[in-house]
Amino acid sequence: MRCPVCQHTNSRVLESRSAESGKSIRRRRECLNCQHRFTTYERIEFVTVTVIKKDGKKESFDKLKLLRGIIRSCEKTGIEPTELEALVDEIEVELQGRTQREVTSAEIGEIVLSKLVHISEVAYIRFASVYRKFQGIRDFVDTLNHLQNQKNNLDFNSTSLESSEISPKPDAVDCETSASFATSS
Ligand SMILES: [Zn+2]
Repeated sequence: MRCPVCQHTNSRVLESRSAESGKSIRRRRECLNCQHRFTTYERIEFVTVTVIKKDGKKESFDKLKLLRGIIRSCEKTGIEPTELEALVDEIEVELQGRTQREVTSAEIGEIVLSKLVHISEVAYIRFASVYRKFQGIRDFVDTLNHLQNQKNNLDFNSTSLESSEISPKPDAVDCETSASFATSS
């Protein structure tokens, strides 16, 4: 740290203390050349993460905006707002820790879902319906199937590797069965 008076680069630290409620460290220093005393602050570097939206537009990652969206989809699910705040904090830390500074909104959506799945199934489906822009009942059914598969995978993960494959959808069989029921009655 360069001395503001003589530009000498060596100083000794006289005192260090926590500042800004723990977010930075304040140090009193003394220049080794001219004995001038000055103060420095050391902070964790906060990088801006850019979100690339579906339409290609870019905006910086807005934690509060994400939180508002998640809170909306979790209304009346009984999840504590503090739990959702913690979830968003986690996501922010995750994004901050990455080497890339850009992330797609779809990727963020998937991260949110991967966390919501452990908190509330209802919130998971609701959030998925908004962010994946569900067009109809088919999308809900697909997501429910996917959710069920994920849960099965969690159950069987320890015993079988094959369980990670998504099992074929039984829809076709179901349709045939109900059709033959209809004709025979
Ligand atoms: Zn100096």
